[in-house]
Amino acid sequence: PVRVRFCPSPTGNPHVGLVRTALFNWAFAKHHQGTLVFRIEDTDAARDSEESYAQLLDSMRWLGFDWDEGPEVGGPHAPYRQSQRMDIYQDVARKLLDAGHAYRCYCSQEELDSRREAARAAGKPSGYDGHCRELTDAQVEEYRAQGREPIVRFRMPDETITFTDLVRGELTFTPENVPDYGIVRANGAPLYTLVNPVDDALMEITHVLRGEDLLSSTPRQIALYKALIELGVAKEVPAFGHLPYVMGEGNKKLSKRDPQSSLNLYRERGFLPEGLLNYLSLLGWSLSADQDVFTIDEMVAAFDVADVQPNPARFDLKKCEAINGDHIRMLDVKDFTERCAPWLRAPFAPWAPEAFDQARWQAVAPHAQTRLKVLSEITDNVDFLFLPEPVFDEASWSKAMKEGSDALLRTAREKLEAADWTSPESLKEAVLAAGEAHGLKLGKAQAPVRVAVTGRTVGLPLFESLEVLGKEKTLARIDAALS
Ligand code: GLU
Repeated sequence: PVRVRFCPSPTGNPHVGLVRTALFNWAFAKHHQGTLVFRIEDTDAARDSEESYAQLLDSMRWLGFDWDEGPEVGGPHAPYRQSQRMDIYQDVARKLLDAGHAYRCYCSQEELDSRREAARAAGKPSGYDGHCRELTDAQVEEYRAQGREPIVRFRMPDETITFTDLVRGELTFTPENVPDYGIVRANGAPLYTLVNPVDDALMEITHVLRGEDLLSSTPRQIALYKALIELGVAKEVPAFGHLPYVMGEGNKKLSKRDPQSSLNLYRERGFLPEGLLNYLSLLGWSLSADQDVFTIDEMVAAFDVADVQPNPARFDLKKCEAINGDHIRMLDVKDFTERCAPWLRAPFAPWAPEAFDQARWQAVAPHAQTRLKVLSEITDNVDFLFLPEPVFDEASWSKAMKEGSDALLRTAREKLEAADWTSPESLKEAVLAAGEAHGLKLGKAQAPVRVAVTGRTVGLPLFESLEVLGKEKTLARIDAALS
């Protein structure tokens, strides 16, 4: 049975790279009817926080992910927070030491640094040089007497490590490139290098899908796994697949600190979880060459990690928005109307709730649905229906009001007054006819009408908007623009 895991560290706000990793693991588990383990890697007390932990869970729920084992749901390998599993790691570290797979290293940071420099200068591999691998009792005695506190270091086997990455194919690492590495700090705190594979082993993870930034830790983890198997702690080495880097602006790696990478930002702007996930799935994967928009169920049905591309993926905000807009249009109107609700309230809509009118909102919602890329755009698109007067913005006004606009508006007012207000078609014909009278095409003729009535140069389909606003208000606003 497939068992995958999503194991973020609760440091700071969740970012899109992390969401993509969660998505691929979740989809992989669903596709194979496997188990998704959600584990919290909170062993770095200096960087982890309860607030980030709460936010992480909230984000996962908002995105619509569920997990079979982990926080809030429990499971046979509980606890799922590493900060509550310290005795387990200590126990494994002791076993590794006893079996000789790990050793105490007394080198000070300065000694390590200066030897690394020397190796570099000599053009030799600059990783740990094995200095403390075979200390005599007398040397250990001396180091202790000097008050040195050892770290625990894993002894890498002197052999080449080859594995078949699920995304990248066969990869080989030679021993010079994978030196012995620390697994427990001098203060006794176990490191990521130990706790991550130990938990993967104990939680019987079968497939590790994670970002390419962790590729260099994979040969170490495979070696550690083999030691754990020998000690009876692990059953078998899992398969590994490394997901491609995500590039942001200027073709630089999208970093956690990049504002474009913050999940909260997408949430606040009114991305739908399904739209965002659809887009994020395209960062390394695709459903087919000619279909960018699909549901999460379609993704799950088709998802195969062998189809993930190893080359870096580019984060394209425009495309992300366009796909989100398509998902907005896929909602049924009632659902759409409800999802807009937060943006029709304070603080986004300062005029609500006093000026808000449910009937007008219901009437305009289907037209709004055809235009939005993100839900937060709803506020500015419908405020003209609720405000006593349209917002006045100098730039929009001068852009739409050209010489002759007054004359056009006067004709448009006449024609609109005579029009049949039960059909947007009739209102369109009125403005079309006004345009013809002044030698203007529809697009040019409707611009001053739009600004006079809505205060904006772009917005919802105009004639439907006028119909919802009503004859009286529309004509009054044109009059106001003319005065
Ligand atoms: N806690 C690690 C991170 O946040 C997860 C690494 C892994 O997936 O192995 O990067």
